[in-house]
Amino acid sequence: MYFILELAFSSNKSYIGNLIRAYAQQEEMEVDVLQTSDKIIMTFKKEDEKLEKFLLGLEEILPASLFLGKGRHYFSEEKPALMPVSKTDLPVNIAPCPTCQKEMFDVSSRRYYYPFTSCNHCGSQHPFITKYPYTRLNSTMKFLVPCADCKEEMRSNALRIDYPLISCIACGIAIRMLDKENEYIALDKGDYRKLFEVCGGALADGKTVLMKTAHGYRKFFNPNSHKVAIKKISFTSQSAENTLSKNPKIELAGSNEHVALSTLLMASVSGFNEHLMMVEQEFNALLSIERPLLRVATKSDEIKAVYGSSVLVKYPDDGMTMLLARAVINMGLDYISYFDVDANEDADFLVDFDMPINTQKDTKVFINQDTKLFISGERILYPALVQGNKNRVTVAHDLACVKVDNKSIIDSIEVFDSVDTDEIYVLENEDFQSGHQNEHHFEQYKASMMSVLAEHYKVGQKAIGVHFDGTLNFLYYNGKTVINAVPAIPFESDNLWEKIRTLREGSDRLVGNYKKAYPEVWERLDNLEGNMDIFEVTAITLGLEDESFEGISSEALSFLGKGGLQIDTRVKDNRFDNYAFITSIMSYQLGDVPNNFMCYSIYESFGDYIGEIVPQLADKVGTKNVVLTGETFANQSLYARIQRTVGQYNPMMNKNFPIGKENAVHGALYL
Ligand SMILES: [Zn+2]
Ligand SMILES: [Zn+2]
Repeated sequence: MYFILELAFSSNKSYIGNLIRAYAQQEEMEVDVLQTSDKIIMTFKKEDEKLEKFLLGLEEILPASLFLGKGRHYFSEEKPALMPVSKTDLPVNIAPCPTCQKEMFDVSSRRYYYPFTSCNHCGSQHPFITKYPYTRLNSTMKFLVPCADCKEEMRSNALRIDYPLISCIACGIAIRMLDKENEYIALDKGDYRKLFEVCGGALADGKTVLMKTAHGYRKFFNPNSHKVAIKKISFTSQSAENTLSKNPKIELAGSNEHVALSTLLMASVSGFNEHLMMVEQEFNALLSIERPLLRVATKSDEIKAVYGSSVLVKYPDDGMTMLLARAVINMGLDYISYFDVDANEDADFLVDFDMPINTQKDTKVFINQDTKLFISGERILYPALVQGNKNRVTVAHDLACVKVDNKSIIDSIEVFDSVDTDEIYVLENEDFQSGHQNEHHFEQYKASMMSVLAEHYKVGQKAIGVHFDGTLNFLYYNGKTVINAVPAIPFESDNLWEKIRTLREGSDRLVGNYKKAYPEVWERLDNLEGNMDIFEVTAITLGLEDESFEGISSEALSFLGKGGLQIDTRVKDNRFDNYAFITSIMSYQLGDVPNNFMCYSIYESFGDYIGEIVPQLADKVGTKNVVLTGETFANQSLYARIQRTVGQYNPMMNKNFPIGKENAVHGALYL
């Protein structure tokens, strides 16, 4: 008789399964740990008296994870027979696990306040990797020799058996702090702690701290401190009468960026509830060991005053940031903010270390009830092990899929050595020359659609696709190749007024009225460069602070009403017409429709349009397979509308890869 515990786990990442194995080894517990494509299964002997204690301990050492779902347990006469996923230990880039965190705050440990504390199953590993295979010699830590205690741990500590990047304060990476006059180098435990405390105090004082983290340089500041952080206040005005209703734009000293565009770093768990409006799934995602970026609605007045209706939020995601957050809490603050910057950014204090690091683009997630999508980024998802039968290298967005020891790994191009390959597939416009005689170029939408089909085991079956990444395209996959069946009418933002004027009868009158009502916006739109997308132009038209797709999304979030305006999306052949769209928005604007209502309606109208075209195409080609790709889908209003209009098809989206750009390197394997 066996006792079987199953944990839903929607990823082929091995760090959770391996952590369970290591913990079992430490506790001398007999258990089979098996990972399939969607769960981790533990099989115990039922009569083992250590079982209860083991399960309680497991709760303590297992981190929360984006990929972990519900658990269930049962008794069985036989061991479960299932197909395990193939695994390779790839360097992770996540937060420290609960055991490592405990060490960082235990004054008796060799890693008290040591920011690079990690084990085989957690922490910042990828930033130190220079190439594959993953060994210490292939990392920037190769010149640091582990001390005797660390060497001993590599044999005796179950969580750090043969851990390639093992280090501690005695043998690891030294950090130092500089202000305009002094340099302070941390040498022992007390120094490490003091360094972070000084930073916390500086932030509470309204000073800025530039810190090198495992994810690159971050400039931290207190967004509520007007003493130092704010250099000048300017007003954006569309017209004289609404100037006063606009928020002042706040600029950070030494930076042109606006505070409202910074990321909010929530230092204390209790701060989430006090300052933000979140559902349980959002809370769980932010606190998961993967620590993604998530846009959430604001709640407290102080956060609203800085960020408006929504904010991009992060819980500390590496040792440096985590220790800083602890110091910030000790100063009585719930949160601080940061910008990703480079090493030359000006700040009151600099915290630095000499080890070169290899940074990854941070990953944003989107959550709608129980659906979780990765919008964009590299961290958390890459490196990834994928199935690849062909001898093919793919390259897109600085990522490559390359065979290493007969396993296909997707990771940043620079960590791979040159390899022999039959063919190479490179994304169009990618800045990459292979010199290979069999080099092919492919379009983003084709690879994105193939990535989703591959994840859902539908390669070879007919399907309809909608690719929405700034522009909206309807695709058809005939089982062999992806065709752009209803392409968007190309949009060029230069000479915009001329294009609007000639759109249809009466358009020239609108242009005249608009110029009278919004002379400054008119002027700006008259001088646009040709390469802006429709969402940037829309945001400028509406005078939004954040002149991008995200600005419109966050404005839409603040609309709490029901039912939208019908925004015109097309003029001829059912194709999406950007000029008709922007013209329609301008006429509503002249009719004094509030911005948030308009932004909400924009997504509703897109949802309706997609809901009309998809069934037509699906009927025409005889398929029920519908694929959605592109970052624009990561929007609450649009996502909800799409569920209503095409929900009956159960549209397929990426599960283990980002829904937008970074799925292309995977999809290209199937072109
Ligand atoms: Zn750990
Ligand atoms: Zn050591």
